[in-house]
Amino acid sequence: MDFDDTPDEAAWRAEVRAFLAEHKAELGDRAEEGRAFDNEVSRRRQALLYDAGYVGVTWPVEAGGRGGTPMQQAIIDQEVARAGIPALINLIGIGMCGPTVIGHGSDDQKDRYLRRLLRGDDVWCQLFSEPASGSDLAALRTRAVQDEQGDWHVTGQKVWTTLAHLSDYGILLTRTDPDVAKHRGLTMFVVDMKAPGVTARPLRQMTGGAEFNEVFFDDVVIRDSERLGDVGDGWRVALTTLMSERLTLGGGGSDIGANVEKVAEHVASRIGALAEVRQALVRQDFARSYVATLGARYTGYRLLTALSRGTFPGPEASAGKLAGTRAARELADLAVRLLGDDAVYAADAAGNAGWQMLQAGLPGMAIAGGTNEVLRNIIGERVLGLPPEPRADKDKTFRELAAAGA
Ligand SMILES: Cc1cc2nc3c(=O)[nH]c(=O)nc-3n(C[C@H](O)[C@H](O)[C@H](O)COP(=O)(O)OP(=O)(O)OC[C@H]3O[C@@H](n4cnc5c(N)ncnc54)[C@H](O)[C@@H]3O)c2cc1C
Repeated sequence: MDFDDTPDEAAWRAEVRAFLAEHKAELGDRAEEGRAFDNEVSRRRQALLYDAGYVGVTWPVEAGGRGGTPMQQAIIDQEVARAGIPALINLIGIGMCGPTVIGHGSDDQKDRYLRRLLRGDDVWCQLFSEPASGSDLAALRTRAVQDEQGDWHVTGQKVWTTLAHLSDYGILLTRTDPDVAKHRGLTMFVVDMKAPGVTARPLRQMTGGAEFNEVFFDDVVIRDSERLGDVGDGWRVALTTLMSERLTLGGGGSDIGANVEKVAEHVASRIGALAEVRQALVRQDFARSYVATLGARYTGYRLLTALSRGTFPGPEASAGKLAGTRAARELADLAVRLLGDDAVYAADAAGNAGWQMLQAGLPGMAIAGGTNEVLRNIIGERVLGLPPEPRADKDKTFRELAAAGA
């Protein structure tokens, strides 16, 4: 990979940077707003960026995008982070739900949903995990049953659904046939989050925020025209979502956990006499953190290189998420350890208020979108070719597994 901008990339970067500088006041400030999303403000910010052509750059033109390159999108992400502008509210919509609709939706669904999603007119959520199915997603129990008119009736519970309480739509994975193997009896739908029978209850996180939810479905009616993919083909549809999720979280182009220099600056300004603070140990910690940061950055660049060449990174994208969360964790721990109480006030590497907020959010990042252990299994089996885990449930129907309490 060439780390310098080409003339075209440099011109694009200059254009993006100038736009962000000109509109900084309207686009807001990360350090002031923190991590919580103000629904209206966040939607306006996304609309402003979309109207300027800076959201969904790689999406096809007919889906509301620009048909641009991953490199162009990466440059926008870097410049948005550099300018200290808060994250887009609809990242799950853009990263996971939209690609699923593009891959499996009808033309009518694409027309109705995609442009509004990119613009932040509609916010989307991903309704996959349940109380008894997270890593083992295919064990999910939320049922969808079709009536004689062809409508589907959904009953069950999802959990950890990010932004469900602010969302207009969600992609919902359900069980439509319990009498086949668990991966085969699933079907995906688009669900209207304001429909009768949908209840989203925010859950308090240790960051103090309440951005994810438990969501209850009580005989919610969904038209058959809102199905994504064929009946019983929900696992294949979900794989589109999960592959897109891995890319979104894999850090292609973003510098997740970067900026060790920022910690060093903070520490140097707060604790003048670094030399006296067991300097050798402190230096060793900085070096370890710096190496982890570079590991994350270059793994992200490998993804970006693959995308730029038009290939779709496979399970090695899991390595990007692993490296990113590890680097961010090391850096946040180091900052909190060295800065002490000051860590509460000094802005973190991404410009958010307080290193301790990043530290408190990181255990969640190591779980969301595939836990570290599950990602290591994927890398072991599918990248390194190690023997797979035993899968005793492969030849049983979901009904048999559920009866056995699996
Ligand atoms: C911040 C955050 C946001 C989230 N947002 C969403 C969302 O928007 N939509 C959504 O659907 N879900 C969301 N999730 C849920 C997330 O996908 C699940 O938490 C995750 O898949 C893990 O599932 P679980 O919590 O049920 O843990 P479990 O699967 O029960 O895992 C428990 C422990 O067992 C380990 N483990 C499980 N299986 C294996 C194995 N085969 N080998 C080795 N170890 C294993 C895990 O690593 C973990 O340590 C979110 C989670 C978080 C933390």
